[in-house]
Amino acid sequence: MPGPRTLASVWAAKSATLASRRLRRGGGTAVSGLVGLKLQSSLIHDLASQLGHGCVLVTGTNGKTTTSRLISETARAAGLQPLANASGSNLMRGLASTLAAATGPGGRLTDAAQRLGVFEVDEAAVPAALQELRPRVAVFTNLFRDQLDRFGEVEAVAALWRQALAKAPPGLTLVLNADDPAVASLGEGRDNVIYFGVDDAKLDRGAIEHASDALSCAVCGSRLEYNIAYFGHVGHWRCPGCGRPRPEVAVSGRDLDLRDGRTLGFEIVVVGNHEWAVDQPPHPNPLLEGEGIMEPRVEASTDMTDAENASMPVEMGIGGLYNAYNALAAAAAVIALGLPAGATPEALKATGAAFGRQEAFEVDGKGVELFLGKNPAGLNQVLSTLLLDPNRKVVLIILNDGIADGRDISWVWDADFEVTAKQFDKVLVSGTRAAEMALRLKYAEWDEAALTVEPEIGAALEKALAATRDGECLTVVPTYTAMLTVRELLAKRTGRASFWQ
Ligand SMILES: [Zn+2]
Repeated sequence: MPGPRTLASVWAAKSATLASRRLRRGGGTAVSGLVGLKLQSSLIHDLASQLGHGCVLVTGTNGKTTTSRLISETARAAGLQPLANASGSNLMRGLASTLAAATGPGGRLTDAAQRLGVFEVDEAAVPAALQELRPRVAVFTNLFRDQLDRFGEVEAVAALWRQALAKAPPGLTLVLNADDPAVASLGEGRDNVIYFGVDDAKLDRGAIEHASDALSCAVCGSRLEYNIAYFGHVGHWRCPGCGRPRPEVAVSGRDLDLRDGRTLGFEIVVVGNHEWAVDQPPHPNPLLEGEGIMEPRVEASTDMTDAENASMPVEMGIGGLYNAYNALAAAAAVIALGLPAGATPEALKATGAAFGRQEAFEVDGKGVELFLGKNPAGLNQVLSTLLLDPNRKVVLIILNDGIADGRDISWVWDADFEVTAKQFDKVLVSGTRAAEMALRLKYAEWDEAALTVEPEIGAALEKALAATRDGECLTVVPTYTAMLTVRELLAKRTGRASFWQ
């Protein structure tokens, strides 16, 4: 049984959730977690240690939400019960409320034996989350400059992560993006690291983009060189100073077919002796004693372990190179967790868009597609994905400067709006900083005659829908808080659930 203080804090968290839901103040997730942690600071640790299959932590600037979803779906297909926090609830209080909400009347997690925690964690919360969650696996997707007023430079976040990992509980396996030098360097001198990356020379852009943030070597400070540049500072890099190369990957993405940006086909190759788990027993949570552990039920197909390099074709219902990276991160996490690989392709195929990330709606016979764009690197990936479909003709770009967006909006000058300058016939610009966004687009040589500024998001959405012909698609690119607003409007019109339901 949990101690009385933990029990009290679980109940306080639960009632705070109910109260705030009644008041319709979002999901109530932050408030309830805050209340619970106030009463019992070890609440997260107390509850996470009951997870029968332990937990996996997912962090990075971009791709946290989608990668977590892909891991959850694979775990579910393997017969486990994933417990995941909602997108946006990725600080400690969000973790606390997610765990508290999953407890039964006795203050213990329900179905604990089958549970695998899949927690996306804000970059800055990684040190605390590693200590409290004690994850079996930590996935680092990438590291780009985010909102300027929230974090320091990329190097500061990398240093924070390095210090946190140095103090991390033993038994942790790292899943790292080999193509992102800032992330790859986290594996220096560590055992139990699984690297993933893309090996597809045809996607080489030949040059590093404007938004590149981490181009110097984490060890010697030399400027990195690239054989292949995919996007941002992501690619096949090498340090000319100390000779450090991109690490060899265990999980490789090959033969990528980017199509029109809405779906994706590629090959996942598991290199060398990193086998997909077949008969491996699931790792029980070392903190858990005397609980029955459920065996995963999906068998891996045996041909995968026969060859030295096991390969499997993958189809995804979401598009863009960045989502291939998310899938590779998830596949590597599945290997690290010892889950059977047989579940991976189906789960990747079946997993639709996460909240506001390539999420599609239909409004009055017109398609509406939401592409969250919250930092230069992420936005550049969105823009190059939009470019894959020349039939996208109407776009609504919404720039807010709320706290969650970053108050300083100068980052839009680092995004390469130039690449899509000739694409759209009709451009609506909205949000609290609509005028600055319009200015940015003018500098990127977007057609001024096609540009309409409408700061009010609801009115801008109506105008954008009116400008979209029947059967065609409206593309919406909002910042984070703008995405919440526009998604709520679309949810109301289409009867889709709000995010906390
Ligand atoms: Zn170096």
